[in-house]
Amino acid sequence: MKTIGLIGGMSWESSHEYYRIVNETVKEMLGGLHSAKSLMYSFDFEEIESLQHQGDWQELTRLMIDAAKRLEEGGADLVVICTNTLHKVAEAVKESIKIPLVHIADVTAEKIKETGLQKIGLIGTKFTMEEDFYRVRLSKNYGLEVLIPEEKERQVIHDIIYNELVIGDIKQSSKKQYLSFIQNLEKKGAEGIILGCTEIPLLIKQEDVDIPLFDTTTIHAKSAVEYALKS
Ligand code: GLU
Repeated sequence: MKTIGLIGGMSWESSHEYYRIVNETVKEMLGGLHSAKSLMYSFDFEEIESLQHQGDWQELTRLMIDAAKRLEEGGADLVVICTNTLHKVAEAVKESIKIPLVHIADVTAEKIKETGLQKIGLIGTKFTMEEDFYRVRLSKNYGLEVLIPEEKERQVIHDIIYNELVIGDIKQSSKKQYLSFIQNLEKKGAEGIILGCTEIPLLIKQEDVDIPLFDTTTIHAKSAVEYALKS
């Protein structure tokens, strides 16, 4: 089994989920007392969030590369960045290490392709919903049509992530708002929804809606295990 290197703490509420899912998946696949071999470098999210909102992506790139290198030097065989948003700098991280990086948008797109769905709604931080690094990757490399919520809705989704979900504050009122935004995407033609922020699955579950959901935390963590168990 290969060792999974997790870049976490963004936020730890979702890193905790990654840790649980990689271990549960290894247990399911190998049985017995098996669990995942992993290393985690976990950031102080206060520092990360302030750099994001100051727009200092240069410093964020430096920090992500530094974490990936530490994991590589520590014996990781692959790297997973446990957040959608920080995939904005994933290409720079990938180029700076010798071990592979499992890209969250790629493994999610592959899952969507397996279902044959074409028009997909995306919810996540404003960075993920509005910038090219995520949406364009899905449309250019996988031919998906990506729909995002209206501007006002995007702001509410973003604020709920940073003010509530990253500190583990799960509110019914926020859940209601998310469900109405998902419904609006469905009205615009979305056939499935990407939960494109690794904390959103703490708030929204498949049983809450009829439309298929693509939970990036679970898809990403499981893909890391599949890679780690490949010979
Ligand atoms: N974990 C979130 C994501 O998947 C947001 C927190 C962050 O900015 O990293 O995008």
